[in-house]
Amino acid sequence: MFAKGQTVIQLFEQLAPKHYAMPDDKIGLQLGSLQKEIHKVLVALDVTDEVVDEAIRIGANLIIAHHAIIFRPLAHLQTDTPAGRLYTKLIKHDIAVYIAHTNLDVADGGINDMMAEALGLTNLTHLEDVHTEKLQKLVVFVPETHHQQVLDALFAAGAGWIGQYSHCSFNIPGTGTFLPQEGTHPFIGEAGKLERVQEVRVETIVTASVQRKAVQAMLKAHPYEEVAYDLYPMDLKGRVFGLGRAGQLPAAMSLRELTELAKQAFDVPAVRVVGDLDRPIRKVAVLGGSGSRYMRHALFAGADVLVTGDIDYHTAHDALAAGIALLDVGHNVEKIMKRGVADYLAAQLAKADTQVVPSEINTEPFQFV
Ligand SMILES: [Zn+2]
Repeated sequence: MFAKGQTVIQLFEQLAPKHYAMPDDKIGLQLGSLQKEIHKVLVALDVTDEVVDEAIRIGANLIIAHHAIIFRPLAHLQTDTPAGRLYTKLIKHDIAVYIAHTNLDVADGGINDMMAEALGLTNLTHLEDVHTEKLQKLVVFVPETHHQQVLDALFAAGAGWIGQYSHCSFNIPGTGTFLPQEGTHPFIGEAGKLERVQEVRVETIVTASVQRKAVQAMLKAHPYEEVAYDLYPMDLKGRVFGLGRAGQLPAAMSLRELTELAKQAFDVPAVRVVGDLDRPIRKVAVLGGSGSRYMRHALFAGADVLVTGDIDYHTAHDALAAGIALLDVGHNVEKIMKRGVADYLAAQLAKADTQVVPSEINTEPFQFV
């Protein structure tokens, strides 16, 4: 059985929820429809003409890509411009395009973690915190007979995590009262008669990302027709998500050696280096895409080098003066997401007939001569 478009995206968004994205970032479904069965997903960095041809050739009807295909409000849709031709081709072949940009950078296990992992970095910290998970307290009143069943359902749906502790809850027995009105079908008691029931007040914690799922699971496991529950906002903050990573190399190496490691780990033909090639490197900052703006963040994190793309001339001079090395591995280093996302999604869709493959098209616009 093929998975529905919405299912594929729901699974993908468990990795990179939309609310992790920076404000005004162009993400989500940009073209086409998810109201269909997905035969094959093609994971790409950029949606170029060649990538669309690849999707047609292999029978993919959904492309998940990192870089947007529509950036600003369309003033027109002329089908004889390069962009217009691309949109037309996608629509004609019923190929949907879904974008995950900064939400995939920020995500745990996203592009920045993939880059850090490729270099073997450990003890990772963020270069910049951008999102703190909101927590809510979920309180529900449940008859004693169904107490464990409701708790199990809540925990299975992801409720009850505080830091590294799972199954966190507080349970207070008490007496619930209710008077079923005419036309009701009460689980306990009968219409028109005041009931007093031994119930338990269950308190637990839910994050914004699991809130809906937890409430749905709780309602399903609860025996009552009308369930009494509350969601309270909390001051306690949840997990923090951020852009870029800084971490330790397994062993110190020279900048020259790191250069070779990066070329191999990221499969790039050349890198631009700022700094003394013989300087020892212990701590490395990485940031996929365009990272010039994060040179100071890397310095602040105590990194000996920032590995990123699109480093401009003046940032290079600033880095020399500040004493931090730079490794420009090119913006195209983000192609690491193709394999990472495809592996993640393929595992999630293991029970469906829907296939997930990384694009084989090289979308590096630069040649190294
Ligand atoms: Zn990028």
